[in-house]
Amino acid sequence: MTTEDQMTTSEQLFEKAKTLMPGGVNSPVRAFRAVGGTPLFIKSAKGPYLYDEDGNRYIELINSWGPMILGHAFEPVEEAVREAIQHSFSFGAPTRKEVEMAELIIDMVPSVEKVRMVNSGTEATMAAIRVARGFTGRDKIIKFEGCYHGHGDSFLIAAGSGVMTMGSPDSPGVTRATAHDTLLAPYNNLAAVEQLIDANPNQIAAIILEPVVGNMGCVLPQPGFLEGLRDLCDRHDILLIFDEVMTGFRLAKGGAQERFNIRPDLTTMGKIIGGGMPVGAYGGRADIMNMVSPAGPVYQAGTLSGNPIAMSAGLAMLRYLNEHPEVYTRLDTIGEKLTTGFRSSLEKLGLNFTINHISSMFTLFMTDKVVTDYGSAKSCDTALFGRYFQSMLKRGVYLAPAQFESLFLSTALTDELVDEVIRANEEALGEVM
Ligand code: PLP
Repeated sequence: MTTEDQMTTSEQLFEKAKTLMPGGVNSPVRAFRAVGGTPLFIKSAKGPYLYDEDGNRYIELINSWGPMILGHAFEPVEEAVREAIQHSFSFGAPTRKEVEMAELIIDMVPSVEKVRMVNSGTEATMAAIRVARGFTGRDKIIKFEGCYHGHGDSFLIAAGSGVMTMGSPDSPGVTRATAHDTLLAPYNNLAAVEQLIDANPNQIAAIILEPVVGNMGCVLPQPGFLEGLRDLCDRHDILLIFDEVMTGFRLAKGGAQERFNIRPDLTTMGKIIGGGMPVGAYGGRADIMNMVSPAGPVYQAGTLSGNPIAMSAGLAMLRYLNEHPEVYTRLDTIGEKLTTGFRSSLEKLGLNFTINHISSMFTLFMTDKVVTDYGSAKSCDTALFGRYFQSMLKRGVYLAPAQFESLFLSTALTDELVDEVIRANEEALGEVM
């Protein structure tokens, strides 16, 4: 038996955490259930590195699930937070920073004419469908299998990310009535969407999707898919909602909608607009957003919404991105270099695994199937992924602790570190196959 003084600090903390919190964590995937072993308890992070409670250093390929696009503790963001805390932490009243933030988001995101701050991506998506229902007077929504839009009841139906990993994509606790109003289609399948619309005439308020999916692993929209959805929505007076919690300000300054040149009616945004602080937002066409209270009758509120510290961090982050277009060139370059390296290792090792990639988002799927939707993503060998994850960890590379997640690169990753990750990947694959 392992005595306490033989255990690592992470192991000790996890043992204690399990007695205090469900599964020992505050968000399921963090528990490492899908990959085995003990989760690392993180003490600090700087630039491209995470440091755990035992003093180990890891190269970061998750970046807090997206927002640390410029690496950890990016100085302008740190400075903005230091400045902001001198004026206290929360007022529950309007501030100049919120106005500046709204103006910047509207300037950067092509389809957004008005915006409302909330505190998480989950809040943003829950509010966006309520607004869509209020605006259209219809109850049903279409979502795609394997897309994750936070833990709101309407979305925990064939959901991706942690719920897909934990095997409970249809969560207990969601009422049948709620589930009844969420219609499902396979991602990249326009014909299925058209059938749902035909079978539910004048009943569908919105189609919500990740324009590039991060939550069943990285899955790209096939050519014509986003255009086809836009067209179907226009023809049937359905609102198109892009959930850009992961893709926003990452795939381009204006998110996936800029990169693919499609304008949704509403957009949900998350963690990145707080520079990593707990923030979210939703926005879109002014006529739709004017439905939101107190401009209109659809109620949505929040004591901490537009929190001054979070706004200050986010403003520093977004201003930097807005003024430095070279960030996006660099993210494209790093993503290309890393995935090219991974592909050549696969070839060298005679493996046919699939890599899906766009700019700084990518997933190595442990399957030889082309991954375009939930069904193909589920063909992965998740046990093999667990061994691969541990092997990468041993080599100092921190991946998302589950197969059905995208990885997120930051500009803090130097060419030398990319080479180190490529080497680690080749060795890890060699070890586990
Ligand atoms: N939407 C997408 C696309 C996400 O990836 C996530 C979380 O990862 C959410 C919504 C929910 O955001 P949050 O975890 O901040 O509630």
